[in-house]
Amino acid sequence: MPNEKPKPKNDDELPEEVFRVARLGQTERPFTGKYVNEKAMGIYLCAVCGHELFSSETKFDSNTGWPSFTEPADPAKIKLETDNSSGMKRTAVSCQNCGAHLGHVFDDGPQDRGGKRYCINSVCLELKESGKGPTDDT
Ligand code: FE
Repeated sequence: MPNEKPKPKNDDELPEEVFRVARLGQTERPFTGKYVNEKAMGIYLCAVCGHELFSSETKFDSNTGWPSFTEPADPAKIKLETDNSSGMKRTAVSCQNCGAHLGHVFDDGPQDRGGKRYCINSVCLELKESGKGPTDDT
């Protein structure tokens, strides 16, 4: 059911690269993530808990080396916090449901689409492609 809160995986079930980003707040190397150039339609889920985070409709090519989105699927699904680590003042983005660190949001996104760039680590995402398997309720 859409409103049921997905249960997060335990830390010891997470692949090391996911653990490093989602739980330790590290960043994957740019242009290495599996979704940097992904064009398929669908919804990006939290790799830790399955919470729906970003729609492919808001994904854009930022040329930064990380999957980039103009907005979350629903603002209530993510949590924003000031992050002063690494000598920068940034806004960290995490999953509201399980607390997984996802990436950061910056103000240099496409101006005609709100100006935000949600810069998200591929390892924290799992794309559920639409148009595969049974379609909606119709
Ligand atoms: Fe999550």
